[in-house]
Amino acid sequence: MLKGKVALITGSVRGIGKAISLCFAKAGADIVINYTSDSSEVEAKKLVEELEQMGVKVLAIKADVSKSEEAKALITEAIKSFGKLDILVNNAGITKDMLLLRMTEQEFDKVIEVNLKGIFNCTKEASRAMMKTGGSIINMTSVVGLSGNAGQSNYAASKAGVIGFTKSVAKEFAGKKLRVNAIAPGFINTDMTNVLTDKVKEDIMRNIPMKRFGSSDEVAKVALFLASDLSSYVTGEVIRVDGGMAM
Ligand code: NAD
Repeated sequence: MLKGKVALITGSVRGIGKAISLCFAKAGADIVINYTSDSSEVEAKKLVEELEQMGVKVLAIKADVSKSEEAKALITEAIKSFGKLDILVNNAGITKDMLLLRMTEQEFDKVIEVNLKGIFNCTKEASRAMMKTGGSIINMTSVVGLSGNAGQSNYAASKAGVIGFTKSVAKEFAGKKLRVNAIAPGFINTDMTNVLTDKVKEDIMRNIPMKRFGSSDEVAKVALFLASDLSSYVTGEVIRVDGGMAM
């Protein structure tokens, strides 16, 4: 489904980003993975090997997407190496949960910088090239950006921002065959959610009509739909992958 395409996935050495990289490689795309710290280098190398075994070309680039110069270098190097970019998945994200009255300015700023500004940085740079060839940009938001969540005002604000950003940019590039969509996962089993206590998980489960948490693969399959021609007339959309949680 993605043969001949080049896809860059940010924050992709684990969790949802890793699942999307594997899913896209299985569909035939050449892959650029991205990691942010030296401590992730071993995981990045392992993932490169795993992807190469699937018969696609792979490049791993270290960059912190919240820093505009590093995001710019990430996109430039990807395009220089593969000659083009067809798919950008803005997946990198963090949480720094705290009730508002106890939340520090740094906790608020950091989450906005990575989750929202990081998407601005990568999308701005990539769209310069992608608007000439067409393509698909997929932004990772969250059901929390739709419905809010106590203790996550910084995260919810960043993810709601991603939705507004997605719809605005989708309108700007719709005439250029560059589609821009967002995925809003609910509760997905990854390192990000593993840190929650059993009590919190039980409370969340009560609000999921399908009565189970989702997997990274289930998010990746929706990303594949948005990346491929199966969604050729879809832009500015937010697709929930949440077992009915934010219905
Ligand atoms: P994760 O913590 O397992 O993975 C996030 C990845 O982003 C990591 O590889 C991390 O190194 C990378 N990253 C963090 N800051 C970065 C930066 N500044 N530059 C580059 N990379 C950076 O989390 P996940 O659960 O796989 O989440 C992936 C995306 O999905 C995030 O945007 C998250 O907000 C979103 N999401 C997750 C869930 C869930 O339940 N897991 C729900 C809704 C939305």
